[in-house]
Amino acid sequence: MRLSKASWQTYKEIPKEAEIPSHQLLLKAGMIHKSGSGIYQYLPFALRVIQKIEKIVREEMNAIYSQEITMSMVTPGELWKESGRWDLMENLMVQFHDRGGKDLCLSPTNEESVTDIFRRMTKSYKQLPVSFYQINTKFRDEIRPRFGLMRGREFIMKDAYTFHADRDSLNIGYDEMYQAYSNIFTRMGLEFAIVEADAGNMGTSESKTHEFQVIAETGEDDIVYTDGNYAANIEKAATTRVGLEFSKDQEMSEVETPNMKTIKDVCEFLGSKQYQSLKSLVYTAVWPDREEHYLVMLLGDDELNELKLKNYIGCNFLLMTKEETMRDLGLVKGFIGPTNCSENLKVIYDKAIDLDSSYIVGANKADMHLKGFMPSKNCNSEKIQVDLRSAQVGDLAPNGEKVKIKKGIEVGHIFQLGDKYTKAMKAQVLNKEGKKISPLMGCYGIGVTRTMAAAIEQNHDELGMIWPMPIAPYQVYFAMIGKSEETKNLGLDIYKELIAEGIEVLFDDRGLGPGQMFKDADLLGLPIRLTLGERDYKEDGKLEIKLRKSGESQKVSTNDLVSTIKSKIKELL
Ligand code: ATP
Ligand code: MG
Repeated sequence: MRLSKASWQTYKEIPKEAEIPSHQLLLKAGMIHKSGSGIYQYLPFALRVIQKIEKIVREEMNAIYSQEITMSMVTPGELWKESGRWDLMENLMVQFHDRGGKDLCLSPTNEESVTDIFRRMTKSYKQLPVSFYQINTKFRDEIRPRFGLMRGREFIMKDAYTFHADRDSLNIGYDEMYQAYSNIFTRMGLEFAIVEADAGNMGTSESKTHEFQVIAETGEDDIVYTDGNYAANIEKAATTRVGLEFSKDQEMSEVETPNMKTIKDVCEFLGSKQYQSLKSLVYTAVWPDREEHYLVMLLGDDELNELKLKNYIGCNFLLMTKEETMRDLGLVKGFIGPTNCSENLKVIYDKAIDLDSSYIVGANKADMHLKGFMPSKNCNSEKIQVDLRSAQVGDLAPNGEKVKIKKGIEVGHIFQLGDKYTKAMKAQVLNKEGKKISPLMGCYGIGVTRTMAAAIEQNHDELGMIWPMPIAPYQVYFAMIGKSEETKNLGLDIYKELIAEGIEVLFDDRGLGPGQMFKDADLLGLPIRLTLGERDYKEDGKLEIKLRKSGESQKVSTNDLVSTIKSKIKELL
């Protein structure tokens, strides 16, 4: 593309809401415009990145014999009512009706549609396995759209779905996808981690699920990993604490702790370590017809992982319990503990707690704590123990190694769904014995537009983006400095030659000064910058090649230009 013939506008001023580099840089470089909250226009350079990502995705999906389809973006409400998700997803899904009063929605995902396609086509186990994918627009009415393309409301997703006769076949299909996803993100030139994810209440205990996380400081997810082969999303990671010393044989007694409302204050006052106390948190699980109250006990310096609690309880809505309800349950704010409280409160202990050791805990009396509280001895309620804490640096992973934590961006997610949708939507096939079975499903997503943003989060500096070669909008930024006809003709000839050689060139023939041109080149971050400077060329007959990432530069004559650029591209692909 010749910039003199293109529409490209960069921006100095961008809105404050753009907090993270990818959002800022995509706006500054004029690659996207905001159209509404969480809704963006993809301008020419962004579209080229999207198309490159999609090409890699298509090639890897086709290679495992997944067939591409396009499902309608607007789907009838009936399908969602069949699966039972019409009401469940009410908040995430934009629902509306047509002039005839029929319910419709904008697809946030497509399990229902694909199951409908499947059931109309497939009658026998002999036709299995089946694998479809699409690259399509999704709409999710996210509570808090943010970070530009990272968490949009309208975004592009690749979603694939497979159907299998049995679990073995599902596992094979899953492993193929896992490998295809690894290939995809490797080919894009991104540093990523594959982590065990949380199956939530979607899956069964057998359901495998993994996330593909691009490593970046600005990621919203915490990845718990070891130098060996363990990696899990913090939502899922079940690690063990080490180096704890508990005392065993204290007698329980009340101590006055006036105005000491934090664990830190109380432990300092009593000369104990924070983990030798218990933290008490009160939560209410809300169902359409009832509420249940839980007292969650954790070691004093541990944090609750709310998702683990939700999964244990099996509810979608969990709230911190209101103060008046707490009072009804016999709890005294600031001094909450598991003694003297209502029977309507279920007590759950985190697994890190040794039920036969003594702890400091709130006494449920104003300004009072208990010392020497031993759950097995001093608490009447049932002793339920569940892993509820968030993993911390230094814990031990299931493989026995110490864990570390880093930030990641979830760009892909693969998931074994089982027969949830095929059962609900009566998508049955006949097995070998002629019996009707509900096939097992897997679903596999990649956020295409989120991947573009994640690539920038991982690859940028203070001057702009630094595109990995495989997904860069163009491979070469060709800056031409000079106004003479001779230079212009030479520049155009070189441009044409590079294009003819199959090199993707963005030719900056706008006639700007070098300062502005280089600034734009750095901002856009194409991997290779080629400069034809009139003055230098007159002196030595050479052009300059500079790599955006390493800053490394060299001079080349026109004769060596094509071969040098080609070998640089090859190195960076
Ligand atoms: P998250 O946990 O980030 O909300 P999710 O687990 O709900 O995502 P999935 O249903 O697994 O997302 O969707 C598959 C992929 O689609 C995700 O891995 C992510 O890359 C992408 N994606 C999901 N939500 C968004 C969004 N709001 N904006 C952009 N991409 C998204
Ligand atoms: Mg996910």
